[in-house]
Amino acid sequence: MQKQMNTQVPKIDCPVVEVCGGCQIQQLSYQKQLEKKQNQVNKLLSKFGKVEPILGMNNPYYYRNKIHTTFAMNRKGHVISGKYQAGSHQVVPIDSCLIEDQRADEIVVSIRKMLRSFKMRPYNEDNRTGLLRHVLVRTGFQSGQIMVVLVLGSPVFPSRKNFIKALLEKHPEITTVVMNVNNKKTSMVLGDREQVLYGKGFIEDTLCGKVFRLSPKSFYQVNPVQTEVLYQTALDLANFKGNETIIDAYCGIGTIGLIASDRVKQVIGVELNQAAVKDAINNAKRNQVKNVYFHQADASDFMLEMSRKKQSVDAVLMDPPRSGSTEKFIHALASIKPNKVVYISCNPVTLARDLESLAKKGYRAEKMIPVDMFPGTNHVETVVLMSKL
Ligand code: SAH
Repeated sequence: MQKQMNTQVPKIDCPVVEVCGGCQIQQLSYQKQLEKKQNQVNKLLSKFGKVEPILGMNNPYYYRNKIHTTFAMNRKGHVISGKYQAGSHQVVPIDSCLIEDQRADEIVVSIRKMLRSFKMRPYNEDNRTGLLRHVLVRTGFQSGQIMVVLVLGSPVFPSRKNFIKALLEKHPEITTVVMNVNNKKTSMVLGDREQVLYGKGFIEDTLCGKVFRLSPKSFYQVNPVQTEVLYQTALDLANFKGNETIIDAYCGIGTIGLIASDRVKQVIGVELNQAAVKDAINNAKRNQVKNVYFHQADASDFMLEMSRKKQSVDAVLMDPPRSGSTEKFIHALASIKPNKVVYISCNPVTLARDLESLAKKGYRAEKMIPVDMFPGTNHVETVVLMSKL
């Protein structure tokens, strides 16, 4: 089991901490941030048992493998790029963000500097003029592969060939470039139309020894260093013997289930989002994993159907969205009688509510470990092992 790491990290000050909406507690030392998160989880979960010390990062900076930057024109008519101010569509100019991969930020700055010579203007969502709206960069921390997604307000991208050529000359580390068209008035970054301009249109990255393919829209944890800590912690707690059949509920692109597959007899992944299930199936093939089955379904309906067929499982791994699980899910889970439940939560408030419901079904929290996946922000992840009484 991972021990709590050294958290005496020298503090780096962020120049836009007061205005940018990206972080909420970046002004605190890392030690203080961890204490704050620990206290929050203790307060919500202590009634279910002892909360272990939070697993923090050795280096809580530059951890994000996915960044998006918005482009705009400032009052002086200069092009700026950065993040939205908290609660507004005002862009705060940022060249280097303390929680983003530095390679990605350097690419964004280069793109901004190139705009003038290509006579490209930032997109203005009010009067629908200009072209470049956002840039999304995904980096593979282990593979080193880099994807740049240019989000444009119109599909007409003059001199695109020369633009890509110039970008690749400056940044030969880029492995693929995708154009995405988003001309809607929306806070969503990506639109529906996509065209690969260079490379394969996806990158790959390795997590806990398995390779995952990432397209512009694939859901993937944004802090790969701590994701390994999180999944390792979850699997250590589960302590599988090798003969189990388990469910990976809310499985996304199949990461947890595929990583668990070496340690159990069979994994059944359930996920609502069709594109994610497609990615999960491809990821199983890519890793030559043969004992994982992915299903596109509502996880509750799926488990109830299993129960109707008198099927049971040894364990359920669950990783629901921030809104948490539901009474229906917990009822369905209990009906297939797992001995163990491992709950990975990104919101301790909904986790506390769900632990209450699970307790009523006879599941007791054995161990609770918070993990800091998002230094600088208020978010905190928690892994809970429960067993049936
Ligand atoms: N375990 C994955 C994804 C977790 S995010 C990972 O770590 O990468 C939560 C996922 O739950 C999302 O992919 C979402 O589409 C899915 N989801 C939400 N409601 C669901 C439901 N009722 N049944 C199945 N999946 C659901």
